[in-house]
Amino acid sequence: MDKTKRKAVIAGNWKMNKTPSEAKELLTAIVPAVKDADCEVIACVPYVDLSVAIETTKGTNVKIGAENCHWAEKGAFTGEISTGMLKEMGVEYVVLGHSERRQYFGETDETVNKRTKAALAAGLKPIVCVGELLWERECDITEEVIARQIKLDLFDVTEEEVLNTIIAYEPVWAIGTGKTATAEQAEEVCGFIRSTLAKLYSQDVADAVTIQYGGSMNDCNADELLSKKDVDGGLIGGASLVAEKFAAIVKAASK
Ligand code: PEP
Repeated sequence: MDKTKRKAVIAGNWKMNKTPSEAKELLTAIVPAVKDADCEVIACVPYVDLSVAIETTKGTNVKIGAENCHWAEKGAFTGEISTGMLKEMGVEYVVLGHSERRQYFGETDETVNKRTKAALAAGLKPIVCVGELLWERECDITEEVIARQIKLDLFDVTEEEVLNTIIAYEPVWAIGTGKTATAEQAEEVCGFIRSTLAKLYSQDVADAVTIQYGGSMNDCNADELLSKKDVDGGLIGGASLVAEKFAAIVKAASK
């Protein structure tokens, strides 16, 4: 498969960082630094930063994403945010199934699937995160874990919808730990995700889906990770909070 047929996507996941004024400051630095990017550039920011983020990036090549959404249209779900709320603001992407949501907030593949379907139905592009725990890797069941997550998270997602979905391979042991998967490990699992998509949909569909790597990707290791044929971009946590580092990763993806 010719990698150039897929769009490289670099997305920042700010997690619970940056107040609205800090978000404005960071995006004001990011926008000029990535203006010549030859890849998709996204900043996924806390809900309270969405408004200022959309305003600050208006008319630029930086797109804005949320970090989660609920599956119901509305109702008695205190503290939750619906896809309609995000759409009306101008949000285009949403991170779903991040390992921190799974680990600390009890999210399951079933709820990730519900959120994914709701996001797609609303016209949002989900970035669906999958990844194994260190213990699962050590027990040599990485492929089983990933295949299960992909099958469950994408259950009932149509071929047309999966083409609007980004998959982020994020080994849990590499998130926020400074331990990056080697480029070979990232390629091996991203390739496995693609072959799983080929079985579930078709090779053509699998070849068209963007699969990111995430887990301590930074300005020093991005080049090597992104050079791999099945690694189409990155979901970046810590390094997305520093404009120069994020811009350097965007530059690596633009080559
Ligand atoms: C993430 O939060 O998705 C992530 C990959 O974080 P970090 O880059 O900090 O490991």
